[in-house]
Amino acid sequence: MLIKAVDVIVTRPGRNFVTLKITTEDGLVGWGDATLNGRELAVAAYLSEHVAPMLAGIDAHRIEDTWQLLYRGAYWRRGPVTMAAIAAVDVALWDLKAKVAGLPLYQLLGGASRDRCLVYGHANGRDTEELLDSVRAHLELGYRAIRIQSGVPGLGSIYGLPPADDRLGRYEPTSAGGLPAVETWDSPAYLRHIPGVFETVRNEFGPELPLLHDAHHRLTPIQAARLAKALEPYDLFWLEDVTPAENQEALRLVRAASTTPLAIGEVFNSIVDYQLLIREQLIDYVRSPVPHAGGITGLRRVLDYAAMYQVKSGMHGPVDVSPVGLAASLHLGLAIHNFGIMEYMRHHPLAGEVFRSTHTFDDGGLHPGDEPGLGVDVDEEAAAAFPFQPGYLPVNRLADGTVHDW
Ligand SMILES: [Mg+2]
Repeated sequence: MLIKAVDVIVTRPGRNFVTLKITTEDGLVGWGDATLNGRELAVAAYLSEHVAPMLAGIDAHRIEDTWQLLYRGAYWRRGPVTMAAIAAVDVALWDLKAKVAGLPLYQLLGGASRDRCLVYGHANGRDTEELLDSVRAHLELGYRAIRIQSGVPGLGSIYGLPPADDRLGRYEPTSAGGLPAVETWDSPAYLRHIPGVFETVRNEFGPELPLLHDAHHRLTPIQAARLAKALEPYDLFWLEDVTPAENQEALRLVRAASTTPLAIGEVFNSIVDYQLLIREQLIDYVRSPVPHAGGITGLRRVLDYAAMYQVKSGMHGPVDVSPVGLAASLHLGLAIHNFGIMEYMRHHPLAGEVFRSTHTFDDGGLHPGDEPGLGVDVDEEAAAAFPFQPGYLPVNRLADGTVHDW
């Protein structure tokens, strides 16, 4: 099980993905997801230039030791690029270990704690009619929990709105080439509009459907508190990312104002980022997915800590988490006790030509399948047919031109 080769594959089947391949001297292959949306080549270079030389000849069974070597050994710790690279190595080593054991990865993490992992999909609409149609389309697809995002009168294209031709909300905000798209934002207009959207959706679909919403880091603490309070009558499963993630104390104000459950952390990458939020019980769900938070080893540490405070998982699952990253989150989610929910957006159909995954969607939930390892194979020949193209997430400006959080 000595590591013989470490290769980085950058491919664009519909969107960019960075995939790590670790090959052992006895010819086994493990896969990891190193995709960091909009900054892909930074992680690819970190892996190929700085990490790969350190892995040659290492025993691939030594997962914890390798994690510590890459984390402590870099001297410069944490950050999205470093932790995405560590995550990719960690997941590839878990994939290898499970293949050697002849078991699906979740069996090595303690075995299944549930039949499947509940997921939520993204319903969205430029206006309320379009949104209601999108919720119906997701219910028909089999979703049992739904995030709703709506256009705001007076604003054009904003976070979470669908492409004109896709009622299933395969939301892809990243540009294909060129510079970042510029969107216009207005928090007061958003705050006036959103409670009425939830009232309409609740009236239409009844009290039982779990509903989620993402404010995408745009509000001040007092605005966030007002939104959480205004949405309380509509019984959200969670309200996500109400304030920019750096000012964690802001959530004390939101907590004091409302019992709306809160989720945060898709831009976090280590247990240190969650220390205050979990210890003070300022959140209910941890949003980090496996590939952005130091892998299975890194995220499991966060979730074990969270479990002491009855905080649950709510793993990020946009289309820029590759099928390898999705599978890693699924195996961990199936095994832990404090699983909450997972985000599940369907990948671009072309992604299926590169990534062959055994996961299945049934009764509103995902199962990773029972093949040894992660249950994902990567077709490198197919990957080579989809060359990388740089792209950016949008940026936000207020009406007067001031840059705002996107
Ligand atoms: Mg979010």
